[in-house]
Amino acid sequence: MQVYHTTFLNLVFLTPIVFFNNYVQNLGMYTVEFQKRGLPRAHILLWLSDSNKLENAKHIDQVIFAELPHPDLYPKLSKVVQTYMIHGPCGAARFNSPCMKEGWCSKFFPKTFIHSTTIDEDRYLVYRRKDDGLFVLKIGHKLGSANVVPYCPLLLMHYCKTLEKLD
Ligand SMILES: [Zn+2]
Repeated sequence: MQVYHTTFLNLVFLTPIVFFNNYVQNLGMYTVEFQKRGLPRAHILLWLSDSNKLENAKHIDQVIFAELPHPDLYPKLSKVVQTYMIHGPCGAARFNSPCMKEGWCSKFFPKTFIHSTTIDEDRYLVYRRKDDGLFVLKIGHKLGSANVVPYCPLLLMHYCKTLEKLD
């Protein structure tokens, strides 16, 4: 278990630094949570250097995605997103989902479809999610881009390739 944790921590903390070497000013902050099944989950906050800050929606859309990739165009990414980056089913489809609090999804899924990324008045990002008809089946329910957890394709694929090496 200790070896796994050391490998996980190296993967989580070294990858962004190496990956964004020219972009990251410093590794700001991180937390590691252990989920109910004992799997570690990391939240990482990176400070980008001034010249590489994501200043507007166009810049953000080049790095972060919140839609299902088309399986014909991006088969590997599509499979990874369908496997790891889908929230749900929850809500009316599954009231006993762990995210449900007082009858509502505590993570606010499914998200609203929107044609372009916006930054609201509280500086909170609302990621682009177009209703393109793509969906994945999870526990017998069709889930589309409204249920995609935002991801960085480059980091996601890098992590998955590294994890495949661990098996
Ligand atoms: Zn939920």
